[in-house]
Amino acid sequence: MDVDKNKDTGRIYPWGSSRRFNSFAEHMRKTYMSRVQKVSIDAGFTCPNRDGSKGTGGCTYCSNRAFNPSYCLPEKSVTVQINEGIGFHRKRYRRADSYIAYFQAYSNTYAPLGMLEKLYDEALTHPEIKGLIISTRPDCINSEILDFLSDLSERWYISIEYGIESCYNKTLERINRRHTFEDAVTALEETKSHGISSGAHFIFGLPGESYDEMLAEAQIISALPLTSVKFHQLQLIKGTEMENEYRKKPGDFEFFTWQKYLEFITAFLERLNPEIAVERFTGEVPPRYLATEPWNNKRSDQIAHLIEKRLEETDTWQGRCHAGVNAM
Ligand code: SF4
Repeated sequence: MDVDKNKDTGRIYPWGSSRRFNSFAEHMRKTYMSRVQKVSIDAGFTCPNRDGSKGTGGCTYCSNRAFNPSYCLPEKSVTVQINEGIGFHRKRYRRADSYIAYFQAYSNTYAPLGMLEKLYDEALTHPEIKGLIISTRPDCINSEILDFLSDLSERWYISIEYGIESCYNKTLERINRRHTFEDAVTALEETKSHGISSGAHFIFGLPGESYDEMLAEAQIISALPLTSVKFHQLQLIKGTEMENEYRKKPGDFEFFTWQKYLEFITAFLERLNPEIAVERFTGEVPPRYLATEPWNNKRSDQIAHLIEKRLEETDTWQGRCHAGVNAM
């Protein structure tokens, strides 16, 4: 996320910067003294909600085709995907000078340890890669994998990014995640006990959740042992089970307009633990995959800029209303 810094008040916030939220990009910049870019990899994993061990249909909103960058193809080796990803980012974001391999597609710890070791080692031996971010489900982690990652984390930046999506089991059931929120809490606690950083993503606007329920998640998420979070507004993807559900019962869905989302995220950030870095406020799927209207062509970086502007206009910041944090 790359938005202008707030220089309006000269205040320094608890995360050590003048920006009004704890930015993950800045957190990484401080760690590496350089601008870090993630390079996505599709290493050919599947997930237990697709291969039949838990289910075959997947989560109702899932479409990895829509979520993955075009240079990620499992037919290509990890090294080739890293080279192509770095080439892509060099053209687009010229300021990036460090790269992290982002094992993104499906569940990237869902394989025997020997295979994981081989894939992660291939990424880490690439001369431009400084570490790994591994995206997975909370029920696809175990102490054997965590022990291995813990060893790696002594030499490299290692973070596990868990898809949690909602703090409510009624929602997780409705979107067919086939794990519970308690599974997510256990995975985060075990990851922390192994000394490994954790990220998590959450979706706002899932069917059956009220505005107040979503807002109340700020307090629940604040208590989790997380280094970073990514937030996405619900986007309805063509061809998904959720699209069928929407066609049958459109009244069950209330999609955020970008204006309402700005209001929601601002209120959410005020309640969020200031120690948790925020990596994204929105998701962005190419419009050709969307079954609903995009947000007036507003890109994620524009929305992020507007959110930061709104924080400034209303003179508020991440954690201002978080329990235990005094107003500045
Ligand atoms: S969202 Fe993730 S866990 Fe769900 S079906 Fe897709 S790959 Fe599997």
